[in-house]
Amino acid sequence: MNWLTNFIRPKIKGLMRKADVPENLWDKCPACTKMIFHRDLESNLRVCPHCGHHLRMRAKQRAELLFDDGAYTRIELPKTPVDPLRFRDGKRYTDRLKDGREKTGEAEALVVAHGRIGGLPAVIAAFDFEFLGGSMGLAVGEGLVAAAKLAVLQQASLIVIPSSGGARMQEGILSLMQLPRTVIAAEQVKEAGLPFIVILADPTTGGVSASFAMLGDIAIAEPGAIIGFAGARVIEETIREKLPPGFQRSEYLLEHGMVDMVVPRHKLRETLVRTLKLLLQPTPRAEVLAMPRPALDIPAPGPR
Ligand SMILES: [Zn+2]
Repeated sequence: MNWLTNFIRPKIKGLMRKADVPENLWDKCPACTKMIFHRDLESNLRVCPHCGHHLRMRAKQRAELLFDDGAYTRIELPKTPVDPLRFRDGKRYTDRLKDGREKTGEAEALVVAHGRIGGLPAVIAAFDFEFLGGSMGLAVGEGLVAAAKLAVLQQASLIVIPSSGGARMQEGILSLMQLPRTVIAAEQVKEAGLPFIVILADPTTGGVSASFAMLGDIAIAEPGAIIGFAGARVIEETIREKLPPGFQRSEYLLEHGMVDMVVPRHKLRETLVRTLKLLLQPTPRAEVLAMPRPALDIPAPGPR
């Protein structure tokens, strides 16, 4: 029976998987509900060609988009205890992790890579929302600390791209510990005099927005991204007031001074290159030139 379940079944599943690829030829835009040919969506950087809605992007796609020539080196995340609380709700936490790994091909919800952006050294730490909602547990926190250390070591900028529902509830208090830890990680980069840039992607909420995500030297947001701490419905119920339209969206945050710019995905790389160059390669100061002395018609001081 073991031989059947362990060997034959996966093989059959593998064959089935290949067969159902054509079903995924089309994607539906969650904003305008129009169908988009999968290849068109990918070549358009997962931005809906009909309405401009920015769909979520995988962490490794972020790295490919932002590094020079899409070339980068990934680092392995530090090893952390798996399921320290032996947590179980509807499902075992270890099973959820296994599902996340199968679905994304990633070990955790964070990808850390280094390379060059505009010729300047940079480290990118990008969240993968597909992996347990991009939630931040021990491994993600440790990954962010490692990214900050790497940036300091390489004298590189640190660019973090959150796309996360917040702290990982299956790790309880241990995930909350990652809030101060990631804040310290961001501080280390700043103390080394290196740029710490955050690109807020949909969604940046909960414990992630309550820690490093709001501390960028420059806060860039993608159009239409939800950025906030508690959900809009929870706030409405608590304060018993109707929230204004566009509340917790990038554009609203820009209007209220919480982010520095809202940049469409197509312009993200060039904006990043320009920003990093401004911060790291300031143009030489203007030369001071002697001005020809204007012939002023000042009457010579005479006797009073
Ligand atoms: Zn659309």
